[in-house]
This record gives sequence, structure tokens and C-alpha cells, in this order.
Amino acid sequence: MAKGNHLFDCYNPPEITFERGEGAYLYTDSGECYLDFIAGIAVNSLGHAPKDVADAITEQMGKVWHLSNMFKVPGQVDLSKRYCDSLPWADKVFFQNSGTESLELAMKTARRYQYGEGRPERVDIIGFGGAFHGRSFAAINAAGNPKYLEGFGPRLPGFINLPFGDHEALKEAVGPTTAAILVEPVQGEGGVRALPPECLRGLRELCDENDLMLIYDEVQCGAGRTGQLWAHQWVEGGQPDIMAVAKGVGGGFPLGAVIASEEAAKHMVPGTHGTTYGGNPLAMAAGIAVFDRISDPAFLEHVRDISNKFRQSLAGLKDEFPDLIEDVRGKGLLVGLKMKVDGDNLVAKNGALAHKLMVGTAGDNVLRMAPPLIIGETEMREAMDKLRAVFNDMSA
Ligand SMILES: *Cc1c(COP(=O)(O)O)cnc(C)c1O
Repeated sequence: MAKGNHLFDCYNPPEITFERGEGAYLYTDSGECYLDFIAGIAVNSLGHAPKDVADAITEQMGKVWHLSNMFKVPGQVDLSKRYCDSLPWADKVFFQNSGTESLELAMKTARRYQYGEGRPERVDIIGFGGAFHGRSFAAINAAGNPKYLEGFGPRLPGFINLPFGDHEALKEAVGPTTAAILVEPVQGEGGVRALPPECLRGLRELCDENDLMLIYDEVQCGAGRTGQLWAHQWVEGGQPDIMAVAKGVGGGFPLGAVIASEEAAKHMVPGTHGTTYGGNPLAMAAGIAVFDRISDPAFLEHVRDISNKFRQSLAGLKDEFPDLIEDVRGKGLLVGLKMKVDGDNLVAKNGALAHKLMVGTAGDNVLRMAPPLIIGETEMREAMDKLRAVFNDMSA
């Protein structure tokens, strides 16, 4: 008997085979064209196959692919300097391959800091409802989503989950065993919810008062996605001690990083952490090429400008379809449409695909969009036309 599909059944992709991409468009093996407004889940920040990044990777490909961190890796010093120069509070960078790995190290760094400061009892990491930090054991325990924890053994000790936005619960939860607070400045998967600026400042104060590490997960909302290079830069006085980044920083090449202050990283001494692939020369070439584009003030200005226009159009769409759309959420080009009727986010996502528009879903009944940051008004208008067609179908 034929064995059939040999892939784990964790995913359920549609019957489409994409062959190549260019900018915000993807082409199937039969030549059909799709407009990509999810960008590999906020990863293809510069669109598909951007030439400058492809050239940088190709050039490095002809020199050296991999050394491991036993040796100095070309590009690591340059990219870490770029990251730290872009963040006044940051001094240290550790390169990883993914978001989950970066979160894992961010949490290790926080605990190790407390340990090194003579407070080994401080191990608890406080996270919030609707959070997403990846799929490792630490990441699923930190985010606390029951769906992702089910069947994977006992809850790990050292993680506390609080309801999103419950300030009283937070003040009560902080105690003698608390090590850190972990939060996404803009929740992605949990429903595309931006934290109010006063919340980030409040978290900063709470951490200062209690000697806690403040960890930001900017894996999805960083890398220019919100129209600032890093999402928390919208908020004066809202800086973390440790930040995890990934997704958009590699533009499609696997790359993640932990960025930390000198103080936060000071107990991560030789032997405390390591990785074989993390910060590999190809990832550094990609990361540098991506960074030099997205950190350009004119580029970020473009993201703010196009996202304002897009959100305005979406607000208009909400007025056109008040029975379907409840709210426009998110920040910059991380956009959510909160739907009125439960499950309509999935209906709209599938409807969009039928109109050759790729979008995603998020928790809390939200249709999620994260287009490449390079979209112009043409792509935006095309997406609006397709969305209008989808919602027309749905109201018919
Ligand atoms: C995607 C994501 C992660 C996990 O990143 P991977 O690269 O999938 O491991 C962690 N945190 C947030 C906010 C994410 O969006």
C-alpha cells in the first residue's frame, strides 16, 4: 500500500504550489498570481526575493557558509553594532536562528541575571493571556495558551500567566520569586493588539521598583513592521532590558537575536549558552542587507505613510460592512480586522485566498494582515478591492 504523505500532519496547507515570488506577489507553478498580505507571517519584510539581499547572501555563499561559534563569524560584529546603535539601551547581542530560540535565551538571560545578582530564588517569568512566544517547552509555558500546552506533559514551574490588561493582578503577582516580565509590545498571534504606551511605561517602572528584568518579544512587531524600527520605540521611556527579535530581521532567511543591555547580559559568561548555527555567515549577510534597508528613516517614513492610508481604507471598509467588521486593530503594517461573528476570520481568510489575496488569522476572531513593508498604493488598492469582494461575498 502506498504510504501517502510523509509530513507530520501539523499543518494543513491549501492545494497551491508557489514557484517564485517578486515583491508582494507570488506566482504558482501554473502561472497564477497572488497578492501576499501575510508575508510568511511578517517575515518577508522586503517582499519576495529582494535583489540586494539575494546578492548579499549569494556573495557570502561563495566565500564561507559555516564556521560555528568556535571561531569569529564574519558579519556578527557588524550586525550586532547596527542593532546596538539603533537602541540607546542596548549593548549586547546573541544571534539565534528563530524566534522561539531567541525567547528561550531571553528568559535564560533574565533568570541568570537574578542568579548572578545573588537572588537565585527569583525564577518566575510573568506572561500574559493571548501571548505567543513560540513552541518550545519554555515558550508554551510562558505564553500559557492551553491549546498549545495540551498533551505535552506537566506545566513547568516558574511561569505565571495573567489576564491581558489586568493591572491589579500584575501588581499582586510580583513577589520575592519573580525574575522577569515578558510581553509583546504588539500582540501578533493573540489578536493583533497593541499595548497602550502607558502600559509599557508602567511595566518599566514596575520592573525598576522590583529589580525585575523586562523582556520584550518583538519577534513579530519589530524590524520596521510598526513604522518604527523597533515597536517599543513608539513609546518614550518604555525600553526593555532584554528583547527577542526574529521573523522580519532576516527578511526570509532564518535569523533571530537577543538584544540586551550590558547589565542584563553581564552574567551570560562563557559556557552559559551556545548554538551551532546561530549567527552563521549567511544569516549575517542577510541580516545586514535587510537592516540597512529597514533602518533607513525614509523607509520607515514610507511604512508609516502607507500603513496610515491602509488603516484609513480599512476603517472605511468597516463602515461599509458594520455587520461583519467590529474593529481595525494593530500598529503600522501589523493589522487586524476583528470580526463580529465567531469564525468569520477564517471564512474571510479562505475567501481572500479564492480572490488570490493571502492573509492570515489570529486569536480573538481576528483576520491578520502583515504585508511586505515595501507595498505601495497599487498593492494597497488591489488588496482593498479584493477584501471588499470578500466581504461582499460574505454579506450576500
Ligand atoms: C513567530 C513568533 C515567535 C516564534 O518564532 P519562530 O521563528 O516561529 O520560532 C515568538 N514570538 C512571537 C511574537 C512570534 O510572532
